[in-house]
Amino acid sequence: MAEHPAFDRLRARLFDVVDLHGVSYLLKWDQATYMPPGGAVARARQTALLKTLAHERFVDAEVGRLLEAAEREVEGLPADAFEAAYVRVARRDFERAVATPAAFTRRFFAHTAATYQAWTEARPADDWGRMVPLLEETLELSHALSGYEGPGAAHPADPLIARSDFGMTVATLQPLFATLREALVPLVRAASAVPPPDDAFLRHPSSVAAQVAWARARVAAFGYDLERGRVDPTAHPFAIEFSVDDVRITIRSRADDLRETLFTTFHESGHGMYHQGLDPRFEGTPLADGASAGVHESQSRLWENVVGRSLGFWRGAYPSLRTAFSEALDDVPVDAFVNAINAVRPSPIRTAADELTYNLHVIVRFELELALLEGRLAVRDLAEAWRAAYAEVLGLEVPNDRDGVLQDVHWFSREIGGAFQGYTIGNVLSVQFYEAACRAHPDIPTEIEAGRYATLYRWTREHVHRHGRTYDPVDLIERAAGGPLDVGPYLRYLKAKFAPDA
Ligand code: ZN
Repeated sequence: MAEHPAFDRLRARLFDVVDLHGVSYLLKWDQATYMPPGGAVARARQTALLKTLAHERFVDAEVGRLLEAAEREVEGLPADAFEAAYVRVARRDFERAVATPAAFTRRFFAHTAATYQAWTEARPADDWGRMVPLLEETLELSHALSGYEGPGAAHPADPLIARSDFGMTVATLQPLFATLREALVPLVRAASAVPPPDDAFLRHPSSVAAQVAWARARVAAFGYDLERGRVDPTAHPFAIEFSVDDVRITIRSRADDLRETLFTTFHESGHGMYHQGLDPRFEGTPLADGASAGVHESQSRLWENVVGRSLGFWRGAYPSLRTAFSEALDDVPVDAFVNAINAVRPSPIRTAADELTYNLHVIVRFELELALLEGRLAVRDLAEAWRAAYAEVLGLEVPNDRDGVLQDVHWFSREIGGAFQGYTIGNVLSVQFYEAACRAHPDIPTEIEAGRYATLYRWTREHVHRHGRTYDPVDLIERAAGGPLDVGPYLRYLKAKFAPDA
């Protein structure tokens, strides 16, 4: 193998940057799980210090020089060779990190921190008016950020979308989302006209410890490695990695709702398996992450929904669940259970949405973000536009701003633009990937019914996980799914599941 002295020096340097981020994630994990409330002030200071150290080490002029030299060393290597992919991804991250002036970055972080703090009080108080001037400034800063990171972009949202879903643009996403919206609205109308199934048994109180034990064993069977992971309780579930060999998930439980533990654990285990499945060589490199927010979400939705809410899966898994929760489930046959966990009920809250209505919540936000960034909608009219969109798209009266425009943290803690599309891209991809896996291994559905998940897991590891960021998301999707992002398979899946007679 050729000598790559500059590449080796670059790699040693960026290992520290990745490790500094890993340590800051450990602080975040602790804060969201076991830290006593008294730790908050010091923890905010410590986290900010680590982020600053990581940023300063990364944007250093020496990194720029090493990158240039490393680029010459890897010239001629295939684009997906480790060294070539490493240098390409590091260059992209570096350019983005140095694009914004330090003074702007400081102003942006100070503003979003103040906005988040105000939101934590304004939401419970249902006080939209307080957030208007803050969000007006966020919108202005978002435009500036877009200009720094993507000068000359076709749409101001494009550079912001590229931050989490590189390669996706308004021009590619808007038509896909329009198709989805047009098909979903009548499906939701039809499904919500039917009286909801009886699901009182799901709210029969049961031991949270027993719920977690059951879900933990099941995601271990999916492929989530508990020797390199853990499951802990939190308020807002997430998956987080400190290294390739320590990838933890956090979940939310309710004694009086079995669904919380089951589906937050399934969901987060999908994210966790993605990181655990990275090529071990990627440890400490910029390649050690998911290809994009959308591809990451495809892995969580695969296990949560495509597998975890299917009749086939529960034919295999239900007997064990029924034994563990016999008081609630003794008289409930498997199809009644599966109907109950798939009930369609339009609700104002995105995170409480069923599989069918979920994407309409995302599409509403995506369209409002574009209207704001294009100047077609003023921030002061946003709450009203939100209510109008929910009436039109979900046929719902939004009861207040707390459960309307104020419900999601995204716009109140970061830039406006690019925050939501990944959720729907993930749903669409979850079905494309599942179908590709089943084309390669037609026995997968039968195996899942028998409680065996290894073939599906191995397919995702081979075609998605192990590559990390080696391929751009668009290329990874093409290689793994056998075609570009396409809403067709997802719509067929939803129709077969929710409107089989239509
Ligand atoms: Zn997720």
